Amino acid sequence: MQFDIFTIFPGMFTGFLTESILKRAQEQGLIEITVHDIRNWSTDRHRSVDDYPYGGGAGMVMMAPPIVEAVESIIPPESGNTELILLSASGERFTQSLAAELATRDAIGLICGRYEGVDERVVEILGAREVSIGDYVLTGGELPAAVVVDAVSRLVPGVIQHESTVSESHSAGFLEYPQYTRPFSYRGRTPPEVLLSGHHARIEAWRRDEGLRRTRERRPDLLPSAEPDEPDCSARDDSRDRISIRPKSDTD
Ligand code: SAM
Repeated sequence: MQFDIFTIFPGMFTGFLTESILKRAQEQGLIEITVHDIRNWSTDRHRSVDDYPYGGGAGMVMMAPPIVEAVESIIPPESGNTELILLSASGERFTQSLAAELATRDAIGLICGRYEGVDERVVEILGAREVSIGDYVLTGGELPAAVVVDAVSRLVPGVIQHESTVSESHSAGFLEYPQYTRPFSYRGRTPPEVLLSGHHARIEAWRRDEGLRRTRERRPDLLPSAEPDEPDCSARDDSRDRISIRPKSDTD
């Protein structure tokens, strides 16, 4: 998987890309990440990349030519199984299912906006997909690009253990259960007994119920309405809190 990041602050990625799992994945040749300085495609002696907005208003706007020239020289039009993304606060929301979709691509280009945003013609000419990492506004697209690289990379086969990605939050349609490790007792608190029982079916049932409880409490928007004819908590003994759910898909 090839990632090409287009930014006017390439130095921002240095630490992030050279540590931990992303570092190892690059060393193993599972992913390749190249950061490109958009200013290298500026044509004036000040290496300008922004200008005043047509129509007036606050701030500056990133000009189309340096971005378009940069992207086209690195990722030629009609480059196979490639996705081109402009990070944008007004884009479609980045989700785990979008990360999974992007993990099937051979290459991903990520354009980081700055200032008040990017000239609209960048999206029109390059056919880029606008993606937002959440309903808030950041100072630039560098952190969002790093978020996309991280979330997609861990779904590339071999980067982390496959089992880690199947039961975690958002993969199964709801949130993950609470986790515990040693020490057994810490400040008077111990893990739930069921986790020490060695009884796999009961542990599975507890985890599913806890994930469901958390989702109901914290993110009820992820849950579809209960469907009584589809029991889903078959492995648990206690029916007190039983609920039937079908994990919500992105198309619901
Ligand atoms: N004026 C823009 C607006 O109202 O949507 C905000 C521009 S923001 C200060 C500068 C750049 O940060 C954007 O062009 C985009 O690349 C990036 N950015 C900010 N928030 C983002 C978010 N939630 N998701 C993705 N990118 C974001």
